[in-house]
Amino acid sequence: MSDREQLRWNLLEMMRDGEAFSRPQIAEHLGTSLPTASALARDMLAESLLIEAGRGPSTGGRPAAIVELNKDFAQAVGISVSRREIIGVLTDMNGLILAQLGGQTEGPFDREHVLEQIIDMTAALLKSPQTRRPAGIGIGISGIVDSDDGVSVQFPYLSDWHNVPLGNLLHERFSLPVVIWNDVQVAAQAALRHGAGRLSDDFLYLHVSKGIGLGVVAGGILLRGHLGHAGELGHVVVDPNGPICHCGNFGCLESVASPPAVVAGAIDALGRGVQSSVLRKSGGRTEAITIGTILEAARENDRLANNLLTTAADHIGQALANAANILNPEMVVLGGILAGEEEGASVFTDRIIRKLNHTILPALAGKTRVIVSPLGPLAAPIGAATVVIDEMLRRIAEEELTGHPEPSKASEAL
Ligand SMILES: [Zn+2]
Repeated sequence: MSDREQLRWNLLEMMRDGEAFSRPQIAEHLGTSLPTASALARDMLAESLLIEAGRGPSTGGRPAAIVELNKDFAQAVGISVSRREIIGVLTDMNGLILAQLGGQTEGPFDREHVLEQIIDMTAALLKSPQTRRPAGIGIGISGIVDSDDGVSVQFPYLSDWHNVPLGNLLHERFSLPVVIWNDVQVAAQAALRHGAGRLSDDFLYLHVSKGIGLGVVAGGILLRGHLGHAGELGHVVVDPNGPICHCGNFGCLESVASPPAVVAGAIDALGRGVQSSVLRKSGGRTEAITIGTILEAARENDRLANNLLTTAADHIGQALANAANILNPEMVVLGGILAGEEEGASVFTDRIIRKLNHTILPALAGKTRVIVSPLGPLAAPIGAATVVIDEMLRRIAEEELTGHPEPSKASEAL
């Protein structure tokens, strides 16, 4: 990026929260001169990227005119795909949901149905009356993703899902830009743009759902890693003698402490004759036990449920403390079942936080704020749409402008 392109990008990035700024504020944020900031804003107003938003609060003299991102400039489709749910949203530029489809997965769960749902959902969202200028389609999917080629390499919940060219499939069908990322990474990007990112530039986003993943935001940027696979906290080995994980290792955090691992632990214990209200709550059918059943039993002081959740939470809290010791985040953001995806998860969440504070370096204990993601279970689909908007804005920032020459050195000096 040239200096000017970088300034354009920085200006668009600072506007992503929907906040309005005056030209002097823009100059201050970007560390540039007022004439340069004014010229950038003028160009973006001409491009309809920004709009006038009235006047800011008075600071003595006449209140300054303020500008904000044009939230209606474009819309994006974002779809999250996990074993638990397939949710599609249409958002505006500020990540506000204009339309929403889908929910928890029901019925047959196989490759054909998952692909069909992604395509049908995309088509329906693009047809919605709020879609006027679609910026593209974003997919956040569990497992290993090759974002460069738009390929979902591995979706751990379907054994016949290998190297699915989702990007090409959707691009051929809808002729729009397509972005494919891991679902935890898109959720972390949503937190960065529209959640915790308003409070901090350095945070960890812990996602606990069928799997366990970590989004690492450092210096206001989401760490994606060399191949885009950063943050696989679920595959940190916590018990080498533990159960085998779908990745092939023994005792990964995910195989020991994820909600499916907790459910498997309950089924195993009941099979050994352990008495617990979990069985009654699932109608006497072990196959009907869910993490919800176990959370409910724990709230009523069922010993088995409490022990299973405590063990799992301790493993998660410990792994999180290890990550926090390495990265020293200002904040930890809890997502997935810890953020309202499952009712009454606070018993689990509290224990994770306690273990985090007991295990983290004493110098950091109590100084690492823990918050629950305000985006709840919609973080991933919103994040998938956010990544689409990000990519569109980056392209726009890099587009060479015509008719609005760079401010001359003379005007810079004014
Ligand atoms: Zn693993």
